[in-house]
Amino acid sequence: MPLTNVQLIEAAEMAARLHAGQTRKAPAGEPYINHVLEVTHLLAQATGGDDPVLLAGALLHDVLEDAPETEAEYLVLARLIETRFGAPVLELVEEVSDDKGRTQGERKRHQIEAAPHMSTRARLLKIADKTSNLRDINDGAPPGWDADRLADYVDWAKQVVDGCRGLNAALEAAFDEAHAVSVRLYRDP
Ligand code: ZN
Repeated sequence: MPLTNVQLIEAAEMAARLHAGQTRKAPAGEPYINHVLEVTHLLAQATGGDDPVLLAGALLHDVLEDAPETEAEYLVLARLIETRFGAPVLELVEEVSDDKGRTQGERKRHQIEAAPHMSTRARLLKIADKTSNLRDINDGAPPGWDADRLADYVDWAKQVVDGCRGLNAALEAAFDEAHAVSVRLYRDP
């Protein structure tokens, strides 16, 4: 059964509750849900909004990574997502979530290596996610990030996105635009 608009709004509310109190590193203090909605909006615009599984997955794309504190909590939340929004939405959210068992370096390497092998929806979601992340740092560097860390981040985002290309020109153009600004600010200033 296709997802309804009611379920999409329900996914947005669920994300808002699960990210409540959480803020972005940059621009400092911005509510986390702003990032989630930006990613969803980018995808809706680029795809004409006709894939509700993609949009529900976008709304929930960071909840499994951020909200559960234990394995048991993770399983409860995963089950809830599956019950309310269906297995394809859960699969998408799991596909784009980092494995917390890995170190930060391992996660970053894994994102680059895994990108070309991910599903179409997951690759679209990754491009939108990285676009939003670069737009955020373009508004101001996260506190405590030095020039090297910023330059590495800009390069890494592009490497992940390069593995996701060939699906949606509008989305890639939005990323490339944000990346060009990041390069001017942080890579080759
Ligand atoms: Zn995200």
